[in-house]
Amino acid sequence: MSAPAPTPPEATTAIDWAAIRAQFPVLERTVHGKPLVYLDSANTGQKPQAVIDAVNEFTAHHNANVSRAVHALGSEATEAYEGARSTLARFLNVRRDELVLCSGTTFALNLVAYSWALPRLKPGDAIVLTRMEHHANIVPWQLVAERTGATIKVAELTPEGELDLDGLWRLLTPEVRLLAFAHVSNVLGTVNPVREICREAAKRGITTVVDGSQAVPHRPVDVAALGCDFYAFTGHKMCGPTGTGGLWGRRELLAQMPPFLGGGEMIKEVRFEGTVFNDPPMRFEAGTPNIAGHIGLAAAAAWLDGVGMAAIEAREQHLLAHANAALTTVPGLRIFGTAREKAAVISFAIAGTHAHDLATLLDLEGIAVRSGQHCAHPLLAWFGVSATCRASLAFYNTEAEIDALVAALHKVRQLLL
Ligand code: PLP
Repeated sequence: MSAPAPTPPEATTAIDWAAIRAQFPVLERTVHGKPLVYLDSANTGQKPQAVIDAVNEFTAHHNANVSRAVHALGSEATEAYEGARSTLARFLNVRRDELVLCSGTTFALNLVAYSWALPRLKPGDAIVLTRMEHHANIVPWQLVAERTGATIKVAELTPEGELDLDGLWRLLTPEVRLLAFAHVSNVLGTVNPVREICREAAKRGITTVVDGSQAVPHRPVDVAALGCDFYAFTGHKMCGPTGTGGLWGRRELLAQMPPFLGGGEMIKEVRFEGTVFNDPPMRFEAGTPNIAGHIGLAAAAAWLDGVGMAAIEAREQHLLAHANAALTTVPGLRIFGTAREKAAVISFAIAGTHAHDLATLLDLEGIAVRSGQHCAHPLLAWFGVSATCRASLAFYNTEAEIDALVAALHKVRQLLL
């Protein structure tokens, strides 16, 4: 296993992480009579009080629909919702009129699939994906391929779980129109070299779609600097409410795309003879959006900004190093994914035990980890395993919680073997 990069001391010592953790009410609770140890943040992240308050404040005092009513509450709601778009655009360093708000990465990737890829691809064209993709970045492309006659090619991994870049470059042949890949793997934690990949794709005229679900919550992400064409993210993994997130797309691409869903808000004029669609991003936001949710998501982005994404990344690297060292004491434990650049996601198995049994017994100790295939069947099949356990860390975790996981693993291993 390669050693993680050393953490700059000032990044971890200047911040009172205990005070930050104290802002997450759920982390105070007990489970099965034990203090909750929440190690499932790659699945969904916990929410600080500031986010809970923002949602409640809007719902209690400003609730109205957006972009429709001229009354005071309607204006307040529209202002707050569009203000949320501006905050999120600043957080990702993109233009606000290039940011489509939607229910999360799954919606965002389907939007690109149906509005960008479906009208363009034809038999003979190819889509390139990678072995480490979440199902949300596989299945929409399969649906497009079935309907257009395009084919799908898969970029493979090294045994450490890094992308085999030479292999990827070889796949980028003239018939490839689109390359879709994760910024950070939800199973392996691998951080992909997004800029380099997008640069190579752009040289060949290939459109790039980046799944940023596991990157945006854990590191500074300057989308404009990445050189991609589309970037998808999901709110509930970045301290925001469920059912929130977005798609950033280059203006010239969004402008050419037909709507994905039809309804209110996405039109300029509707007559029975024909409809004039709104400009992006509204063109892709049919119907009443998740107003309170996106106001909460903007509060999450502002709150994360206040802590500092660089400090969050450094803190999580520190916790990852602690976990990697502590887990070596557990006999028979294998970690899947040891990339040189890796986020704090640790998928593991213990020889002779089943992941679901491990996770069930850990739960009785108050420790929440995920077990199963992590919405990544092709990746698990490649490793030749039917399931793993996954401990995914966030800045609000502590060394003591990691030590509790390791102590519990020693205990449950003995029970199971
Ligand atoms: N992509 C990755 C890498 C993920 O980890 C997830 C969620 O687990 C998704 C996509 C799907 O996100 P959502 O269910 O929020 O749309």
